[in-house]
Amino acid sequence: MMEIEKEMDVQDSHILAKQKTKEREILLDYDYKKCAGCSICVALCPKQALQEGPLQEIAKGLDAPPVLIDLDACAFCGMCVNFCPTRAFKMTLRELPAQDMAEATEAQA
Ligand code: SF4
Ligand code: SF4
Repeated sequence: MMEIEKEMDVQDSHILAKQKTKEREILLDYDYKKCAGCSICVALCPKQALQEGPLQEIAKGLDAPPVLIDLDACAFCGMCVNFCPTRAFKMTLRELPAQDMAEATEAQA
């Protein structure tokens, strides 16, 4: 079975959700300072991985993300990236070098 690791990190206004397998790393970067709190992504997410944050308090000046991400539920499908009108979500994919291939090449050298 394919092993999937997930982790979450926060850097300034960026909430970074990461999914890693042997082959690739996918980073979902949510910059909440760019988020208008329209909740389109909350409605669209096929996994119900997004929910509204404390919008009323944010409207009164609280510094908090308008959208909360449930990392366990997120399937890294990219729907939120594609439909966000303010481009608050970004997704990057990094292919990782196949370890077995690298080892095989080393063994031959
Ligand atoms: S669609 Fe974009 S602007 Fe709207 S709530 Fe989601 S992240 Fe924020
Ligand atoms: S990547 Fe897909 S599953 Fe994850 S929060 Fe965005 S829409 Fe939901």
